[in-house]
Amino acid sequence: MIRLTSIVLFLSCLAMGNAFALTLTPVRVAPDVYAFIGDTGMRTADNEGMNANTGFIVTGEGVVVIDSGPTWKVAKEIHRAIKTVTRQPVKIVVNTGDQDHRWLGNGYFKSIGAEIVAARPALADMQTRGEMQLDGLRQTLDKKVVGTRPVYPDRFFDQSETLRLGGQKIQLLYFHGGHTPGDSVVWLPKQNVLFAGDMIYVDRLLGVLPFSSATGWLASFEMMEKLKSKTIIPGHGQVCDLARARRETGDYLRLLILHMQQAVDKGIALQDAIDSLDQSAFSHLINFDLLKGGNASRVYLEIEGQ
Ligand SMILES: [Zn+2]
Repeated sequence: MIRLTSIVLFLSCLAMGNAFALTLTPVRVAPDVYAFIGDTGMRTADNEGMNANTGFIVTGEGVVVIDSGPTWKVAKEIHRAIKTVTRQPVKIVVNTGDQDHRWLGNGYFKSIGAEIVAARPALADMQTRGEMQLDGLRQTLDKKVVGTRPVYPDRFFDQSETLRLGGQKIQLLYFHGGHTPGDSVVWLPKQNVLFAGDMIYVDRLLGVLPFSSATGWLASFEMMEKLKSKTIIPGHGQVCDLARARRETGDYLRLLILHMQQAVDKGIALQDAIDSLDQSAFSHLINFDLLKGGNASRVYLEIEGQ
């Protein structure tokens, strides 16, 4: 009887373990173009650090993956989900930035023979922060990071590169970075679809971090606007249009930069500049209270240092 109870307990623990494993579902945004929409909250053991959007494009000569996810395990889950849509092999992985969820799954995709591509400025940041990013994930995800290590891209592009694969035209564009130094976008001119990586946030407030450049980010955003994308897969939040991206990313960056530029020009001290900044138009966005203070102070310091 005791033995039977232990077996039942053991089996139900296994079942619970499975229930908490991350399962990704491809969302079709255009013919042969899919997105994975991650959590909008922080990294947790349940979301396995996949609190961001990624995606893939199916071509007649293989699949192009946009961002490899935060771990080996999540990368493998991305691949499993891709295989529910196509039998084409993954040929190329683009890292649209150097934040953990954009590239720490590279090792898995490299092990299945994919070539990894990123904008050139991503490399230095990956080399500087890769181990640190992995340590951070280890603290939240514990054993779920098993097998993950920083694996750098095989190849880099400067301003742009066009991938022509199986009838698809896929443009990789680097502007001025933003959230991270190597932020780039994937643009599909025929389908009018933009994978914006961490340069567009909707639903949740964007984060200006110590390695970000808010002024570079706004300049990049203005370049993205010129593409006039009909469908945008933001780095975080639901699939959106350009008007929404402007309201929740472009307008916010502009507010921070204009206010802090004026403050620095007038010689106003950091704390006074933060206190006099009204960010309430963006208070409906997730993580507003968590990030608004840091965003304000980092933009001030960036402009003061210019
Ligand atoms: Zn991100």
